[in-house]
Amino acid sequence: MSKRTEISELGEFGLIEKLQQQIEIYHDTTILGVGDDAAVIDCGANYRVVTTDLLVEGVHFDLSYCPLKHLGFKAVAVNVSDVAAMNALPKEITVSIALSNRFSVEAVEELYEGIQLAAKHYNVDLVGGDTTASRSGLVISVTALGETTKDRVVYRSGAKVNDIICVTGDLGGALMGLQVLEREKQVFLANPEMRPDLEKYAYITSRQLRPDARMDIVHELRDLDVVPSSMMDISDGLASELFHISKASGVGVTIYEDKLPIDKETYDVAVEFNMDPVTAVLNGGEDYELLFTISQSDYAKLEKHPDIHFIGHVNAAEEGKHLVTKSGTAVPLKAQGWKHF
Ligand code: ADP
Ligand code: MG
Repeated sequence: MSKRTEISELGEFGLIEKLQQQIEIYHDTTILGVGDDAAVIDCGANYRVVTTDLLVEGVHFDLSYCPLKHLGFKAVAVNVSDVAAMNALPKEITVSIALSNRFSVEAVEELYEGIQLAAKHYNVDLVGGDTTASRSGLVISVTALGETTKDRVVYRSGAKVNDIICVTGDLGGALMGLQVLEREKQVFLANPEMRPDLEKYAYITSRQLRPDARMDIVHELRDLDVVPSSMMDISDGLASELFHISKASGVGVTIYEDKLPIDKETYDVAVEFNMDPVTAVLNGGEDYELLFTISQSDYAKLEKHPDIHFIGHVNAAEEGKHLVTKSGTAVPLKAQGWKHF
């Protein structure tokens, strides 16, 4: 009998790596295939980048607290975030949906309101897609295409020893927002009379329900004439993404606990949930901020930027990956990441 391997044995990344080994590239215009935030294709003067993401009801979103309009926006934003992570500008999207008979025309229109809002916000054209039936729930897949000049494309693989590690915005909010939404859902299921008061959690719930890709940072880096040495977006959690940069670049990293950006609301809610706020920052997914490295010579150009935080530096691979705690102790960095399997 042939052997059966559970997907959970390999995990999402292990599975992708296994598939990757079987892929053959036939065109020399394919500059980069699987393994980064987006594929890179030579189209003459410029590079085109292509990325796709699939959102499945019950796995990636719960319609009992995620409005369809927000979901539409988010489906586009998470793809634009991968285009941003290549330091490219988004141009077009395609949108494919599978719908069960639970959904009405009005519901689909609401979803598309969000999609169109995002298309306008990110200045992208919706150029196609596919529509089909689903046996259970809603599936939405967006593909985004972007463009950049060849000298500006940024991979995960370019980090060099002594580079400075930067992150944008603040982290852990989307995870804590999800915790609050899940808790309120349980309260509501137990007692439908209860109306959740989410006012107090407005920031973190919006981080979860309506993330915004950091195209503003991509534009600012251009204006300041800074090309990061490596970059990716933070979809699975900072620690997990640092592992990706380390592996792709063949380097190690040192980050400092006291430099990690966290919003007060995120911090307070982590404490409310008996969770270490640092764990939320390191392992919380779906913040869609940017993680990048710059050479020390570019530091002065970004030093005063209010929304870019310098959290550590790149070191040799042999030195490993460490988090220096507030007390000054270096502990090995662990990547828990986001597990779907
Ligand atoms: P991201 O979190 O940036 O969207 P993923 O972790 O989803 O990236 O994917 C990592 C890489 O693996 C990407 O280059 C993606 O295109 C590729 N990939 C993911 N799933 C598949 C698949 N089923 N077949 C081929 N490539 C895949
Ligand atoms: Mg990504």
